[in-house]
Amino acid sequence: MKKVSILLAVVCALAGSRVVGQDFDTTVESYRGVANQLIKSGRKGNDSYLKLQELCDDIGSRLSGSQSLDQAIQWAQQSMKEDGHENVRAEKVMVRKWERGDESCRMISPRELKIGMLGLGGSVATPAEGITAEVIVVKDQDELDALADEAIRGKIVVFNFPMPPFSPTQGSGYGTAVAYRSKGATWAAERGAVAALVRSCTAYSLATPHTGAMGYSGGPNIKKIPTACITIEGATLLARLQARGKTPVVQLKMSAQQHGEVPSANVLGEIIGSEKPEEIVVIGGHIDSWDVGTGAQDDGCGCVVAMEALNMIRRAGLKPRRTIRVVLWTNEENGTAGAKSYAVRHQAETHVAGIESDSGGFAPEGLSIDMEDDDKEQIAIGQLTKILSLLDAIGSTRVKAGFSGVDVGQLKQLGTACMGLTVDGRLYFNTHHTWADTVDKVNPKELTDCAITMAVAAFVIADMPPRLGEEE
Ligand SMILES: [Zn+2]
Repeated sequence: MKKVSILLAVVCALAGSRVVGQDFDTTVESYRGVANQLIKSGRKGNDSYLKLQELCDDIGSRLSGSQSLDQAIQWAQQSMKEDGHENVRAEKVMVRKWERGDESCRMISPRELKIGMLGLGGSVATPAEGITAEVIVVKDQDELDALADEAIRGKIVVFNFPMPPFSPTQGSGYGTAVAYRSKGATWAAERGAVAALVRSCTAYSLATPHTGAMGYSGGPNIKKIPTACITIEGATLLARLQARGKTPVVQLKMSAQQHGEVPSANVLGEIIGSEKPEEIVVIGGHIDSWDVGTGAQDDGCGCVVAMEALNMIRRAGLKPRRTIRVVLWTNEENGTAGAKSYAVRHQAETHVAGIESDSGGFAPEGLSIDMEDDDKEQIAIGQLTKILSLLDAIGSTRVKAGFSGVDVGQLKQLGTACMGLTVDGRLYFNTHHTWADTVDKVNPKELTDCAITMAVAAFVIADMPPRLGEEE
């Protein structure tokens, strides 16, 4: 066994050195001085944190179609113009507008209790008097499937699915839990339920409900029933009462409204490339957020990280060979209209690479990468591993194959090397899509390190002779 693994290691090492050769080592080493300069000067300031306060404290939450999102779009253009960037502009995108209105969830039997809730984005309203019904609690889809129709018809289904806690190897359990939020209402309606309540997508709760997008995917014959998330505290209480033979009755009131499509915009700003201006490296985050909290970690941080990364490069007097373009996408949270529109509008351009930050502004760990062409992805992983070695001083050196980001992912079909800024994700989902996603959750130093990581990676990728994913 041991011999085999040594042999494998040797083969892998040889393969690696074939893919990324000595020349590339030399190329990357030639950027070490620049990287050190960006790290040193970047760490002297906290401009990304100041920008975050302007965006989140002064403007606030930024749901698609809201006045505050329009203000944020204005602010971002103003800010990038003041920073001296080129081609600063807004590109119009039509987005859906959904408003939550007043809402509440009350248990009225076996005792009176207000249950912490937030309507899910896209949900229909209840009648004005609300929906009052017995609840049926299920842990997961299998439990729902095992129930007879009579046990569900006319009831409020409560999905009490526990999101797995963060693990250093698996990351967050969001991917498994989020299906209940997005599809729970359809699953419940298919069985005759009158509303669906979903345990919040978080592994940790201090009575915080976590909103998010949902959709009705059951087709025209399946009724669109109202749906909301409730706190872990509320969901587990209902489950315990049911387990002891009681039948809780809940009243759900929601006055959510759909307003159709309204204009919004992506915001762009650039440093134009000196030799290959037509080749583009995109860096960005999404400028919209949910309507609760102030969208600080999600994704105010991503926006200011990209804006400040471009600033760091400009302030250092660097002019990359290719163009570096900040894109702040609109409508990531409930439609992805911004990223889809960007990919269509700019499809004729050459997007060499894209780096998205949408995992919060925590201590950066490196980059994930995802490409359409597997061979190119292997070459890019080798190159990126070398490039990120320039960030040894801030510990942001890890390259991992896999999911890059919802917005930048729209460029994958164009052959772009799609990357995501990866961070220490332990705390991210504790406040995700809640009233608690505010600036106090952000550590200014960690945020600065995110911007430095993006600046160094974007500059080297935009300036190095070979394209990322192509051999020299
Ligand atoms: Zn986000």
